[in-house]
Amino acid sequence: MMYYTKDDDKRYKEAIKKRIAELKKERNAVIIVHNYQRDEVQEIADVTGDSLALSRAAVRTDADVIVFCGVLFMAETASILNPEKTVLLPVKEAGCPLADMATAEEIKKKKKQFPDAEVVCYVNTSAAVKAESHICCTSSNAVDIVRSVKANKVIFVPDRNLGFYVQSQVPDKKIILWEGFCPTHIRVHPGQIEVAKKKHPKALFIAHPECSPDVLKLADYVSSTGGMLKYVKQSKAKEFIIGTEMGMLFRLKQDSPDRKFYIPADGLICESMKLTTLGWVAHSLETMTNVVKVEEPIRVKAKKAVDRMLAVSGEKKWVSVSGS
Ligand code: SF4
Repeated sequence: MMYYTKDDDKRYKEAIKKRIAELKKERNAVIIVHNYQRDEVQEIADVTGDSLALSRAAVRTDADVIVFCGVLFMAETASILNPEKTVLLPVKEAGCPLADMATAEEIKKKKKQFPDAEVVCYVNTSAAVKAESHICCTSSNAVDIVRSVKANKVIFVPDRNLGFYVQSQVPDKKIILWEGFCPTHIRVHPGQIEVAKKKHPKALFIAHPECSPDVLKLADYVSSTGGMLKYVKQSKAKEFIIGTEMGMLFRLKQDSPDRKFYIPADGLICESMKLTTLGWVAHSLETMTNVVKVEEPIRVKAKKAVDRMLAVSGEKKWVSVSGS
């Protein structure tokens, strides 16, 4: 009987990585990777980050091809910002269940119901939903974005927990919440945090705002994945309990190898994010398949919402902002 050893696996991955590097050069491609991707996919990234960092990278790149290792709405955002570039999503089934919880038709109905409100859409939405929104936001800038909106009433779509968190930080606005949720982050339970804190009494607990309000109450810090990296770097603490998708641990360990990180429960995995493998990245570059292209009328409207977000986040150099 033959066994596939760890060395075989290493050699196999190195061979695929070599082929990806060759194809990248041939195609003049850039590989953009979300923090929740598999470790080996993060290893081949030109840019790794949270949704805001990746949107910024998509604006700045001068590559002809963007390989987006993430989920569909992220590749759509890259296409919205770069209509002249080819955007590839290595696995076409890699969607975001949270993004699927709001449709453009539902937003239109809600706008009729609340005509004095402005729609703030989380970046985890389809291009069609962004096209129906006034401004986009990510988990790292959601509070600032809602504060920047002129209307006193805001329809916040689609993540209820993030909307609830923003409401706690921006009490002078009335936020109309949507009933969407991230199937990964809602699995974090306050009981698990209490157990983890007892087990690691010196550890600080950092939570993603897609976690439930009961979990956020226990957090020492609430932040996007990008914010987690910064917080850990500047913190005096040496141990951290991380309330987000497990892929984040790879990035945290690379960034701060002298610290210890714990996940509150096994199985905090986003199945959609883990669909992308080295093999699929190589395949997409080889065959140039799974091109993500947003239809022009939707793209133009959606871009206004994304441009407004980037402008509020200090990206004025790259974007033009026009009225709706
Ligand atoms: Fe969507 Fe949640 Fe997966 Fe992020 S972790 S892609 S919000 S399902």
